[in-house]
Amino acid sequence: MPKLGNPTSTIEILEKYHFVFQKKYGQNFLIDSNILNNIIETADITKEDFVIEIGPGIGSMTQYLAEAAREVYAVEIDKLLIPILQDTLSEYTNVTIINEDILKVDLKKLAEEKNNGRPVKIVANLPYYITTPIIMGIFESKVPVESITIMVQKEVAERMQVGPGTKDYGALSLAVQFYAKPVIAMFVPPTCFMPQPKVGSAVIKLIRYDQKPVDVKNDGFMFSLIRASFNQRRKTLVNGLQNASGLQLEKKAIADALEKMKLSPTVRGETLTLQQFAELANILYQE
Ligand code: SAM
Repeated sequence: MPKLGNPTSTIEILEKYHFVFQKKYGQNFLIDSNILNNIIETADITKEDFVIEIGPGIGSMTQYLAEAAREVYAVEIDKLLIPILQDTLSEYTNVTIINEDILKVDLKKLAEEKNNGRPVKIVANLPYYITTPIIMGIFESKVPVESITIMVQKEVAERMQVGPGTKDYGALSLAVQFYAKPVIAMFVPPTCFMPQPKVGSAVIKLIRYDQKPVDVKNDGFMFSLIRASFNQRRKTLVNGLQNASGLQLEKKAIADALEKMKLSPTVRGETLTLQQFAELANILYQE
């Protein structure tokens, strides 16, 4: 089996199996070996590692992962890709292919069973429409994970990495940064994929914190505040939070909390750091 990750062998495989791309699954396969090598390097994969790959496609990245890792579990939703993967990965004895929707796989159980509870590494060239549910699902369900190295839409990578005071800063930035340190490793142009996506892409590595960067009494409550603040981005924090259904916060309580934190009564949520959201949540939660 030829090494994939280049236009010639990708076309050969696609023709051999008369494969038709499915738009609904966000299928854009990597055809650039430099990018694939860079992803493996960024993810820091060694022969000690148990790796979960989300969406292996025809197996281009899986081949690189299989060579670098101890063991790889590749979860692919499209059943038409399974015979192709069995072919392109036939030489690798350390790869298991699973035909399933990643959102339905119990990754916590898989990681605990296959890696003795030690943290796994997750690597993926993700279908862009499910980037956020996948990442948040992994963090929130407490999958023992050391890092997630993923190709995402360029703008999404930027949103995950920025801090307050920029237009891209929002609930996703705070949610990711609560769990992990985000580092953009590289930008990848559409020409590196087949078919070419309409948007630019980026590889971002999320390195999970051993200890949360802020001390918060109730994570869920803090994230309700964060979502409410950014849902009404143009409003002051006091008005945004007071109007948020489900929170039931009184204007005075919010204003008092801001005063206690020495913040202006007209401050907007988009200027608050994660630390400040945690502090605000702790004060309001107590009340
Ligand atoms: N990793 C391959 C590569 O780099 O060439 C393919 C990447 S392609 C952008 C995304 C892959 O994820 C496709 O193979 C698609 O069928 C698969 N996929 C889409 N939704 C999925 C889901 N919910 N669970 C598992 N795989 C999914």
